[in-house]
Parts: sequence; structure tokens; C-alpha cells
Amino acid sequence: MLQRRHLSRDIQFAKKRQRIIRNTINPKRWRKGRSIMKRLIFHVDVNSAYLSWEAARRVAEGHEDIRLIPSAIGGDKEKRTGVILAKSIPAKKFGIRTGEPVAMALRKCPNLFLAKPDFRLYEKSSQAFMNVCRKYAPVVEKYSIDECFLDMSGTGQIYPDPVLIAERIKGEIRDTLNFTVNIGIGPNKLLAKMASDFEKPDKIHTLFSGEVEAKLWPLPVRELFTVGQATAERLKKACICTIEDLAKTELQRVQSLVGVKLGRQIHDYANGIDHSPVLSQAEDAKGYSNSTTLEEDVKTTEEAYRILLALADSVASRMRADGAKAFCISVTIRGNDFKNKSRQKKLSGPTDITSEIYDVSKKLFSELWDRRTPLRLLGISLSHLTRDGYVQQSLFPDEEKEREKKLDKAIDSIRSKFGSETIVRGSVFQSGTDVGRKYKAQMESIKDKNNMR
Ligand SMILES: [Mg+2]
Repeated sequence: MLQRRHLSRDIQFAKKRQRIIRNTINPKRWRKGRSIMKRLIFHVDVNSAYLSWEAARRVAEGHEDIRLIPSAIGGDKEKRTGVILAKSIPAKKFGIRTGEPVAMALRKCPNLFLAKPDFRLYEKSSQAFMNVCRKYAPVVEKYSIDECFLDMSGTGQIYPDPVLIAERIKGEIRDTLNFTVNIGIGPNKLLAKMASDFEKPDKIHTLFSGEVEAKLWPLPVRELFTVGQATAERLKKACICTIEDLAKTELQRVQSLVGVKLGRQIHDYANGIDHSPVLSQAEDAKGYSNSTTLEEDVKTTEEAYRILLALADSVASRMRADGAKAFCISVTIRGNDFKNKSRQKKLSGPTDITSEIYDVSKKLFSELWDRRTPLRLLGISLSHLTRDGYVQQSLFPDEEKEREKKLDKAIDSIRSKFGSETIVRGSVFQSGTDVGRKYKAQMESIKDKNNMR
């Protein structure tokens, strides 16, 4: 049995390993002892993406441009259900807001033109504008469906004027794809992102280090990236109202107000500091998968769950070792008829927590399996990865989640020291059989290099 003493030592060991992983991808560390070229980052953000994309499609088909009339994307007009996902500028004048129920929007503007969301179109349009960006930038990181970061560092020889090249990118997107973007230019991702959020639409803004005082500091603190409503209120109560107030407040005081980690982050951000690298698409598109061909057919849900837990456990720990998190989880099953079936779920936020991955996998599995066909193979894969520090963190992290994270860390560190078979998760172990170990030994680990997006 494990002793508490060992656990705490192992948590420290895991922390150290994580630090090493982080440092290898943190350009700040590369800077030591050598001169690094100045970074130049663009943030490209599509203006009212869903509505623009729907409008561009309609215009291409010879219909009117819905950007010019009160229009919105979302819900169902007949049933008056759902919420507004995006709106046109004329719709905004009626007071229609993103996220409000369709029924309410229709009361404000009975003639509102409503189009249903079409995520296939969005994926296609998203890829199209990022492909334009790739023509100009050596490294492009997809940040969300309608936003990407371009690492333009070192392109000064080819493009001496960053604003001019941003104009060209913006122009090419507008002329060939018929929608507009904002581009923010800065020395890091944070400042580029803040800049692209200045005046919209169809604009280019710079936010270089020398401009932080004039352009960033006067903004209310709520405008700073990662500062949510609750954080802003706490800061305001302490008389920290603008980004300048935050930048000039002592770090320890900020940390005492909002917590150590978030405090450090927003204090850095307010001072225009951010060292996170732009990660290329190819790297992030890799996924992690684990599947196991079963010696004997699985016939009960309980058995299947135990195998899923072992799979989730091993695939998640590999991903954590690489410092990645996944936005998408999929489960594959193969019946004794040798037909493969899979199902995937996209998460609202990325995860690397074994128990979360296991929970989603169980759900996907129960949707996939008819409870009759004996199963020959089970698999879990994790894709749409991120190694980005930009992931929104809640101010009051869920206690349960924190516990799970600590458990994962401890298990990872013990395994990295003593081997992967030293610990078997509780519920696998309690199965009475050695199913966890047995299947783990059979697992085929494939680091999937295919582009999963
Ligand atoms: Mg946008």
C-alpha cells in the first residue's frame, strides 16, 4: 500500500516533470544565453463569424446579403426555440443580443431574418480563411473556429511592414471569401489578441510593447483577456478598475484577491507579458488513441466500463506527459460481426483528467452499444489537442476536479518512477479479476499521426 509520505513526494516529482515539459516549449527559456529574434504575432478574428459565413454563402448563391438587414443565426423561427448565436449590425440596433432566446429576439424585431446554424459550413469557411493565413505565415495556430494566431517572427526580410502584410491578408480573405476579419498585431499572443478586439469590423490594430500604456491601460479591467465577471468584481471592490490599476498593483496583493495562479497570469497580462508559443496546426492535430482487441468477447456493460477505464487511464496519462489537453473524445467499438462503430463528443473546454475522459467515454459507449452484440474491440481516442495556456480558468475551480487532478498527478509520477503496472485504478482493481492489468498488457498504443481535424 502507498504511504502518504510517498504520495506527497511523488506529487512534487510530478510537478518537477511538468515544469521540465513546460520549459521545453516555453520560448522565454530559450532566450537565456542567446539573443532571440523579436517576436511578431498576428491574431486573426472573423467578424460575426457564423452570420458572415452564412451571408457569404447566400451571396454566392445569388441571394441578398443578410449582413445588411436585421438577421441572426440560431434556433428555429417556427418553433421559436433556441438561442441567438450571432447577429447582424442592423439586428444589433434592435437590441438583439448573442445568447438570448430566439423568442425574445423576435419580440424585439418581428421581421428578424433567422438562419439555422450550419456547422459543416462553418468548418469549411474556417479552413478556407486559415488556408489564406498559411500562405503568409510560417506557423499558424487555430485557436477557435473563427480565430487563429500567426507567428510572423523573422518574416521582416520578406515583409518589412507588418501592417502592410496584415492589410494583404485581410484583403485576400475579403476578396476571395467575401467576409471580413480583424487583425491584431503584437509582440506576443496576448497583445495581438487584445489588439484584434479593438474597433471592429474589418480593422487592423497594433499593440506593441511601447503602446501598452496608451492603448491597453485605459481599458476597464474586465476587458483584459481571462478576467471574467466575478474576477472583475473582486478587483473593483479593491479599487482596481482599469488595466493600468491592475498592472501597477503589487503582485502579492492581486494574488491575495484572486488566487496565486490567476493572480500571476492577469498581473503579467496587464503588463503586456506573455511568453506562450504559437503552436502549429500539424503538431496540435495529432491525437492519442488506445484500443484493445479483446481475448474474450465482452458481453456486459460492467466489463466494458472496466476496460474503458483502463483505456482512458493510459491514454490520458500519455497525453498529460506531453503537456496536452483534448477538446474531443471518441470511442470505437467492434462487434463480433467485425463492424466498427464510433462516436465522438466535442467538449466545451479541453481536459486531461482521467475521470472526465472516462465519464464521457461511458456515455458515448452506452449510445453506441445495443447491449446485445458481443464486443471484440474497444478504443478511446483523444484529439483536437491544445497545449495552450490560454484555456479559460474558472476563478473557483471545482473541488472535485482539483482532487481528480491531484490523483492523476500522483499516479503519473509513481508510474514514471516505478513502471506503468505499479498502480491500477481503484474501480479496475475492485473488479475482483485482474482485468485492468490484463487488458493493459494487451493494449496497442498508437500515437496517431493522422490529421484528425
Ligand atoms: Mg470572431
